[in-house]
Order: sequence, then C-alpha cells, then structure tokens
Amino acid sequence: DSRIHSIRTTIRVVPNFPKPGIMFQDITTLLLDPKAFKNTVDLFVERYKQKNISVVAGIEARGFIFGPPIALAIGAKFVPLRKPRKLPGEVISEEYVLEYGTDCLEMHIGAVEPGECALVVDDLIATGGTLCAAMNLLERVGAEVVECACIIEIPELKGRERLKGKPLFTLLESH
Ligand code: 5GP
Repeated sequence: DSRIHSIRTTIRVVPNFPKPGIMFQDITTLLLDPKAFKNTVDLFVERYKQKNISVVAGIEARGFIFGPPIALAIGAKFVPLRKPRKLPGEVISEEYVLEYGTDCLEMHIGAVEPGECALVVDDLIATGGTLCAAMNLLERVGAEVVECACIIEIPELKGRERLKGKPLFTLLESH
C-alpha cells in the first residue's frame, strides 16, 4: 500500500529522547501532513468499519489523537484510558511495570458495558506493557477486546508476545 510509505516518511526519529540511547519515534510530524494523517486514519477505518466494534479505547496521550477520528468513522464510542488522577469520576486502575518503576492507566466505571466489543488504539507498541494494561481494564468490566491497533511497532522488543494472545495490527516497524 503506497499510503504506508507516505506515512513512514512523515515520522521523525529523534535520537536520545527522552534519554540517551532511545530513538524516539515522533508522530507529531505525521500530524503536520494532512494526507498522511488522513491515510493513517483511513487504513484503520477500512480494517475496522464492518467489525461490530462499539468502543474505541484510546491510551493517553497519543491514542487520544488517532482514536477519536477512527471511532467517529466506524460509529463507535470513544473512551479515554488516562494516567492516574486525571479522570473526575469513579475509576478502575491497572498498574503496569516500566523499565524503572511502575505506571498506571485508569478508566471511568460505566463507560464500557459488559459484552461490548472494543478496539484499543495507541501510536506505538514497545514492550507491550501499556496495551496489556489497557486490555486488562476493558476485560475487567466484561468487554471483549477484538484487537489492538498502533501505527508503529518496535519488533525487537517483542511486545506482541505480551498481549495475551490478542491480535495486534500495526502499520509499520520503527526505523
Ligand atoms: P510499551 O508499554 O509498549 O513499552 O510502550 C508504549 C507506550 O510508550 C505508548 O503509549 C507510546 O506512546 C509510548 N512510547 C514509547 N516509546 C515511544 C516512541 O519512540 N515514540 C512514541 N511516539 N511513543 C513511544
């Protein structure tokens, strides 16, 4: 698909951000190119429009950029999965392990009903810990995670293997 190529060329790689040795995949440059941004959303919409998905769960912060246009186009609701103490209502929390320390994602209770079919959206999968926590939140309220979708995958980190057997769809590998 030539659209994938157009997307890849807009992603900027920033060496040594946020710390030495990390090659940060910067999607803000993708957003500066309306064609590449639209191609990105379209590729996901084409994949998910006939899949009976009722909820798109986006992970803070970059899942909040790509999740909502996908949700609107496929007729699903959008649910933000946020960092701790950001959501005002009653929440459930899921902690996950990082290289140093832990992090946490929260979801509003009542946002997702038992039996709903969910798509989890983020910009990038590295170790898979973030997507795994997101899936746990959805499964704890009785939703079924149909798939996780990201733009970029870092295959060396094998995050795909941490997703509890759930399918992962990505557009391209990190460069
Ligand atoms: P994981 O939990 O899979 O190790 O890390 C994925 C999370 O970290 C995602 O929420 C993603 O936004 C963020 N992340 C880690 N590395 C990068 C990167 O190089 N570029 C971007 N855009 N996000 C990253």
